[in-house]
Amino acid sequence: MTEIRKNPGYLRIATEEAYAPAEMLRLYRKLLDEKGTDDPGFLSQWGYFLGNADRMKVLAERFHNLGAGRIADMDATGIDRQIVSLTSPGVQIFNSVEGTALAISFNDQLSEAVHKNPDRFSALGCIAPQNPAGAAKELERAVTKLGLKGVIINSNTNGEYLDDPKFYDILAAAESLNVPIYLHPATAPRRMIGPMIEKGLEGAFYGFAVETSVHLLRMIMSGVFDRFPKLQVIAGHGGEGLPFWLCRFDLFQKNYAINNRFPHMPKLQRKVSEYIKGNIPVTSSGMAWAPVIQFCQQVIGIDRVMYAMDYPYQFDANEVVVTDEMDIPLEDKKKFYQTNAERIFRL
Ligand code: CA
Repeated sequence: MTEIRKNPGYLRIATEEAYAPAEMLRLYRKLLDEKGTDDPGFLSQWGYFLGNADRMKVLAERFHNLGAGRIADMDATGIDRQIVSLTSPGVQIFNSVEGTALAISFNDQLSEAVHKNPDRFSALGCIAPQNPAGAAKELERAVTKLGLKGVIINSNTNGEYLDDPKFYDILAAAESLNVPIYLHPATAPRRMIGPMIEKGLEGAFYGFAVETSVHLLRMIMSGVFDRFPKLQVIAGHGGEGLPFWLCRFDLFQKNYAINNRFPHMPKLQRKVSEYIKGNIPVTSSGMAWAPVIQFCQQVIGIDRVMYAMDYPYQFDANEVVVTDEMDIPLEDKKKFYQTNAERIFRL
């Protein structure tokens, strides 16, 4: 494996790093075996992983390990700290009662693992938005009682998006506790996934980014960030493409306002680009490519872009070398790898 530079002048904090308890994968397998879901994205994604013994064997060991094995992998790639979170779709695929109970149990287990290695791990809790009141309550418990640093939500829940007022309690809880929601990708719901699935586009290749960026734009255009102006919703994978579109978003927001093109949509207080810069920090998960990271830094802000590896899906020392060797000043690299995460997750 490639040698990683030691003591580069910053800590490497990886902010979107996945785990999966054996219990959850067992329940996923049961859903598949007993046809407990007809969600096309889940069937494609987890049908593949759980049906592919070789790929799953390697992944499963890394998914389950929240101790020495994970730390050895971090050491091998120069990662000082992981912010660990439950892999997609997490508990959001289960029914409301089961999802709520599992979130509580998984968060307890995760916080225990963090407390055993507080120098190497921080974590985000999981919640079941299919039970909004229970999810808001669990978010609060995860942060105030368990010391977790926020929560992960895997994009849509049963085809529903966080701009729906039924989810406001969750957003209000995150805002008032001053913790971020990491909006991690999931496969698109049935009404959106058809044209993707026909051509194998529904997953990490591109569909995740389409689904998650649409979700973020729905939140912006619905006025969610006017209602919750301090809310921070983190987007991985170079902001799921949104930074690339800023000038176009603002242009068409203005055109639509002049022409009153969509009278049913609320009038926003700010430009779309301002919500993206102010409410949506981005990470480099799965995007070890200097042009993307530097572009995000340029248009979103040097204080708003964080490092992530996307372990164990992408676990490659060469990718760390790519970001280590970005042609930017050391002080900016330190913001990228370390201090932005320390500030945004309040580590
Ligand atoms: Ca991920």
